[in-house]
Amino acid sequence: MKRKGFSPKPKQPKDRSPEEREQAMQRIVGGAIGNRDKRMAGYREQSLRIHPWVCARCGRVFDQSNITELTVHHKDHNHDNNPADGSNWENLCIYCHDNEHSRYVEYQPDEAITMARDEQDLAKYNPFENLKELLGRK
Ligand SMILES: [Zn+2]
Ligand SMILES: [Zn+2]
Repeated sequence: MKRKGFSPKPKQPKDRSPEEREQAMQRIVGGAIGNRDKRMAGYREQSLRIHPWVCARCGRVFDQSNITELTVHHKDHNHDNNPADGSNWENLCIYCHDNEHSRYVEYQPDEAITMARDEQDLAKYNPFENLKELLGRK
């Protein structure tokens, strides 16, 4: 499986659009979450607000301690289709979500990116956290 977008992004200013630079500036000044991050996480938050914290497939129940393993699936596999009533969203645990996509014949790259994004969003840890430690430990 392709893991587009997983590699750490270079932070060179020239790679940024003026809009992104503006957002980066706001992030620095306000210390708040960037608008882009908010927009990306928006539908998940909304779906979790509308739907019960239960996996629609296996029925696993979630709470604050493990809510990070509950992801939002787009029923029509179109992550741009986000009706406010939540009719295109389905709360799925990460395992059932994976399942849902692997049995879907027409695999949508867009949705794959959404998933990867979900995972990144969920896994608030830094995958390279230990790297520094390992490098420092000679
Ligand atoms: Zn499940
Ligand atoms: Zn999905």
